[in-house]
Amino acid sequence: MNKKDVVVIGAGPGGYVAAIRLAQLGKSVAVIDKGSLGGVCLNWGCIPSKALIHAAKLYEEMANAEEIGIKVKPSIDFAQTQKWKQEVVKKLTGNIGQLLKTYGVEIIKGEAMFEGPHKIKIKGVNSGQESVEFGSAIVATGSKTIQIPGFDIDGENVVDSKQALEWTKIPKRLAIIGGGVIGMEIGMLYQKLGTEVTVVEMMDQLLPGVDAEIAQSLGRICKKRGIQVHLSSKALEYKKGKNGLSLEIETPSGKNKIDCDVILLSIGRSPNGAGLGLDKIGVNVTPKGQIPVNSKLQTSLPHIFAIGDVAGPPQLAHKASKEGLVAAEIIAGHNEEYDVRAMPGAIFTDPEIATVGLSEAEAQKQGIAYFVGKFPFAASGRALSTRHTEGMVKIVAEKKSNLILGCHIIGPDASDLIGEATLAIEMGATVEDLALTVHPHPTLSESLMECGEAALERAIHILNRPARESPRKREVEKHA
Ligand SMILES: Cc1cc2nc3c(=O)[nH]c(=O)nc-3n(C[C@H](O)[C@H](O)[C@H](O)COP(=O)(O)OP(=O)(O)OC[C@H]3O[C@@H](n4cnc5c(N)ncnc54)[C@H](O)[C@@H]3O)c2cc1C
Repeated sequence: MNKKDVVVIGAGPGGYVAAIRLAQLGKSVAVIDKGSLGGVCLNWGCIPSKALIHAAKLYEEMANAEEIGIKVKPSIDFAQTQKWKQEVVKKLTGNIGQLLKTYGVEIIKGEAMFEGPHKIKIKGVNSGQESVEFGSAIVATGSKTIQIPGFDIDGENVVDSKQALEWTKIPKRLAIIGGGVIGMEIGMLYQKLGTEVTVVEMMDQLLPGVDAEIAQSLGRICKKRGIQVHLSSKALEYKKGKNGLSLEIETPSGKNKIDCDVILLSIGRSPNGAGLGLDKIGVNVTPKGQIPVNSKLQTSLPHIFAIGDVAGPPQLAHKASKEGLVAAEIIAGHNEEYDVRAMPGAIFTDPEIATVGLSEAEAQKQGIAYFVGKFPFAASGRALSTRHTEGMVKIVAEKKSNLILGCHIIGPDASDLIGEATLAIEMGATVEDLALTVHPHPTLSESLMECGEAALERAIHILNRPARESPRKREVEKHA
């Protein structure tokens, strides 16, 4: 019988990170995956989508470089782009496999199911079955695309994100059901490559959950780019005709039809907690497949942990990895818990969007008296010199303490800039801390500093005069 201190089910960014840390802490570990090492993130999610988004951005930049004296007429061999993307994925997943092997982690390919509170049965991908006994287990089985009746994913008319990221031909007309993160990233990617894109979103804003002002800003940019967006609208059915597909939608002004060649279904992902035999051993799983956990990431059986998408939102790779590290430390006997104060999120639209902490709406809902600082990239020398001036940095801060509660960025390199704001919130920084920190020039990071200054109504590169009852006035009074 194969016996291990810990068995990890799922080798995505939650599972493989947990397995490596457990091995570093001296535990004997097996990681079981029925798919590919790296999970959704490395194989069909974060990495492949960002590789294609990079290629599309480069293509668009080249096509529009005449203003700065560069004259090229690019053409794209998308099959080659896909080949390159696959090489990136292969390299990364290969590295993960190598790391796991070097740390002595046993990699088992197959589908895992609990047979008892300390025993897992594995159905091999090609043949046979085997079992592993364990002291502790970590469930990191991720999530899957949510489907809706009438829109079965057939890979031809209706596709999911995995299939849309594997096309070797660029579609002419793409309709997207769901204007969330995945839908908008893929929509903007193909729009850059010449696809006619229409987005149907049930809520009254794109990117539901993101700061409304930032989401509206993206809506305006989509319009400028020619992406059609239908908000507060519902996809009803589609029909196949001689000239492609006709998607019927219900909009606030009545029924409408969208002509397209393919439909991307991206209305969200549901956790993969069902079908693992957890119910038989007394681990609670919600009807939606989520495995509830406490702050130590323990399920209702304390020696069985759940991390990543399967343990609930936000569905982000770095959240899964952080939970993987915490679960590993707890299993190794360390006094840890998941106490993340600021969980950043990055959205690779164009421009990028990144957020951390409270939005204005959330601050209002929590009854917090707050104030806001904003700094537009149009006033940044660095943004101007790279021709990416759309967007802004916005900070939400607490009135009584000036503590930074949230930061929301739409603009160039937002995904990298948000790291500083995340650290600021984790460290309990105030807007003064941000404003008083010297930032290198000329960089986009100066926009965070100027946003701090703007919150105090004293930014240099935008017109900023203290108003009555302003935080600046309070600051002046404090120092009088
Ligand atoms: C198109 C797309 C783009 C994305 N972009 C980003 C991004 O830019 N940034 C970001 O932070 N997040 C992004 N995400 C989300 C991110 O991919 C997930 O949050 C992350 O992969 C979750 O990690 P995980 O370890 O929980 O699970 P997963 O990565 O889903 O891995 C789960 C693994 O478990 C295995 N498994 C499942 N059931 C079993 C079983 N019974 N037995 C054995 N193995 C099993 C699966 O084969 C899989 O390999 C994106 C997602 C998609 C779909």
